[in-house]
Amino acid sequence: MSDAPNYQYELVGVFGHPVAENPTCVMQEAGFDALGLRWRYLTIDIAPGKLADAIQAMRVFNMQGANLTIPYKVEVLRYLDEIAPDARLIGAVNTVWRQDGRYIGANTDGKGFLRSLREDANMNPAGRRAVILGAGGAARAIAVELALAGVSYIVIVNRTRERGEELARHLNAQTPVTAEYASWDETYAIPDRTDFVINATSIALYPNVDDIPDIDYDTIHAQHLVCDVIPNPPRTPFLHRAAARGARTLDGLGMLVYQGAIAFEMWTGQPAPVEAMKAALAREFGVESNN
Ligand code: NDP
Repeated sequence: MSDAPNYQYELVGVFGHPVAENPTCVMQEAGFDALGLRWRYLTIDIAPGKLADAIQAMRVFNMQGANLTIPYKVEVLRYLDEIAPDARLIGAVNTVWRQDGRYIGANTDGKGFLRSLREDANMNPAGRRAVILGAGGAARAIAVELALAGVSYIVIVNRTRERGEELARHLNAQTPVTAEYASWDETYAIPDRTDFVINATSIALYPNVDDIPDIDYDTIHAQHLVCDVIPNPPRTPFLHRAAARGARTLDGLGMLVYQGAIAFEMWTGQPAPVEAMKAALAREFGVESNN
């Protein structure tokens, strides 16, 4: 006897506003195809004021989960059944997944960065000293995950003093790391003994792809690992300048792929086909898929 036909799909997706240019569907659907899963990833624009309804709709449609993007990563906390401890520390949720019928908020941005650091740059961050440029959502997620992974010292360098000071205070109070704020009123010199430098600002985000953080590039050395969060185009002027100084570099495409791969694994319970996901995204961006 042949199996009954099955035309039903498991659903996940992204809620944002605006969201049309979000490329995550490309890598998630490539992952589902690679494993032969009957899953779909939907890109859904949620009008302002409608997020609570959207989460309710997610329950009604019995979705397996969702990603949240701008401007909903913070607001969503109040509509979920549970928030994972690190997402609570970060104060934002980018991934919702379902366990025993309950929707749990997680944050895979910093974890994605960490996995890229370990797997693409072969670096164990424990005991290292980091400089993070920026104090927004990406910087916060990265800083918290680095702190939880045992980084010993973090300098937060941010244009807006209050935001940078608040993040350094939060890290000192809530995580094992020692953190300090450094002002960015003038060209920033990387301190001695720094192991890695991360641009977690939106500098060089499309269309301003030629912009570059105002640091003293003579203070970048061959022993530094220099990282950027900008995924497209991934070879930013910041990474070019660092490479010209002999530093190793890590681009933001890996972080983007791994934050999606971790969500994929939470949703499907299966190891993510990372190479297929990364190749699909690199093809979409028109770049090589290696760091
Ligand atoms: P936010 O708006 O929350 O924060 C932006 C940060 O950039 C702030 O610290 C801001 O400083 C700083 N900044 C912006 N412009 C300048 C400038 N001209 N000079 C100095 N500092 C500047 O954004 P997010 O943290 O959410 O996103 C930051 C970047 O991270 C984006 O480009 C995003 O695409 C990328 N990202 C990448 C991911 C990946 O997977 N690769 C995942 C998530 C984000 P101030 O506080 O002074 O305004």
